[in-house]
Amino acid sequence: MADLLELTATEMTAALERRETTSRDLVAASLARMASLDGQVHAFLSTRSEAARKEAEAIDRRRLAGEKLGPLAGLPVAIKDNLCTSDGLPTTCASRMLEKFHAPYDANVVEKIRAADGVIVGKTNLDEFAMGSSTENSAFGPTHNPWNLDLVPGGSSGGSAAAVAARMAPLALGSDTGGSIRLPASLCGVVGLKPTYGRVSRYGLVAFASSLDQIGPFGRTVADVALMLQVIAGWDGRDSTSVNRPAPDYAAAVRSASAQGLRIGLPREFFAAGLDAEVERLVREAIAVYEKAGAKLVEVSLPHFAYAVETYYIVATAECSSNLARYDGVHYGHRTAEPSDLIEMMSRSRAEGFGPEVKRRIMLGTYVLSSGYYDAYYLKALKVRQLIKGDLDRAFAQVDCLMGPTSPTAAWPLGAKTADPLAMYLSDIYTVSANLATIPAVSVPCGFTAAGLPVGLQIMGDVFTEDRLLAAAAIIERERQDWQRRPGMLAGDGKAVQT
Ligand code: GLN
Repeated sequence: MADLLELTATEMTAALERRETTSRDLVAASLARMASLDGQVHAFLSTRSEAARKEAEAIDRRRLAGEKLGPLAGLPVAIKDNLCTSDGLPTTCASRMLEKFHAPYDANVVEKIRAADGVIVGKTNLDEFAMGSSTENSAFGPTHNPWNLDLVPGGSSGGSAAAVAARMAPLALGSDTGGSIRLPASLCGVVGLKPTYGRVSRYGLVAFASSLDQIGPFGRTVADVALMLQVIAGWDGRDSTSVNRPAPDYAAAVRSASAQGLRIGLPREFFAAGLDAEVERLVREAIAVYEKAGAKLVEVSLPHFAYAVETYYIVATAECSSNLARYDGVHYGHRTAEPSDLIEMMSRSRAEGFGPEVKRRIMLGTYVLSSGYYDAYYLKALKVRQLIKGDLDRAFAQVDCLMGPTSPTAAWPLGAKTADPLAMYLSDIYTVSANLATIPAVSVPCGFTAAGLPVGLQIMGDVFTEDRLLAAAAIIERERQDWQRRPGMLAGDGKAVQT
């Protein structure tokens, strides 16, 4: 086979079942691609090559022995480095604070990947503690966009999105608090899904903003994302917010996808000032494909959408300031050298361990929670959050899903927004509402700009309609086949050529 890594996860599984390839070869190809290209992309913070090879060989042996294998059997999987792993790899959250932290247990999703016989090949780069939209806030250096190495991959799960786009691994996990799966999926030309809050257990996900955080999959195709979601979805007694409700058959939903009779809501506010003209054109062209295939388009309005970014940055920073109080230099994480007393130990440990964006968030969050400002900011933001949810509930009484852009622009140059936090925060304008309202949303490729950069279509749905969202996403994927297009740097089978 020419290039094993051009296969999607679903195709890899079929090739393994037909004995056309082995897990050993797939994992070896994945590790070789990482070795040849990750010096330029920097998608990974740590890799496990020997252990991954051994696991792959063990799976091949079990397959030969005729054993029944799990749904991810022998597939290389990359996971974001804010998910706890106890197998020797650190869990750093791309922070100096946790640089040397080895988690004593596996996250629920990691247990599930292992139980499904997936092979974890490494842990991916992110904005420190998942706070950011470009992966530039990593304490260990940014990830580069495989479509153009001078550009950001989006964030905060930029490493996972870039790893899938560069065919280093067919599947990856990320976390999404305000868009961190969908934004990098859009900018890297892959599919990324944020599930309904509670669909996937957060046990072992390092907390950023607990009422918004959710773990979700990346893949090159909708079917691959469905495969991964099936594995990680479900109730877990160790996350009291996970929901005990059976997961539907996502792959079957994708196979039977049809636009006939689908009612698609187009929020007027999603196509207003600030949206790049080329992104708007590609998103509108995608929506026209649905209409042609039998969908009914309905214009809807989300009157409180204008407050979504502000509301998100109050709720998220408030929860962040509370969650990150645990890094005190006492329990675990970085501790300063030779402090003179306890207070200095805590303050210096935090000053040295956290990067500038994390500090900014802790300060903002502490401010909005402080007495005298609590009612004016935090409490008010919670009320506006309800209004935003109300807008979406009203929309879903009328339509099956909402469509619009995932990101207001395609990928931007590294460094372009790092000096202007507000400009960076505005890249989340279309994604934060889903987290505030706890609803699922997917980003699926819908074409390329004239400069050859991918653009994502965002599809949002009511709670627990991931099956319908994936089915809807499959329609534009089938029409456009964008997943077959390769980043220029892959030309020459791994020899790096910049686009
Ligand atoms: N970009 C948003 C932020 O910086 C969302 C991050 C995320 O989803 N983890 O908070």
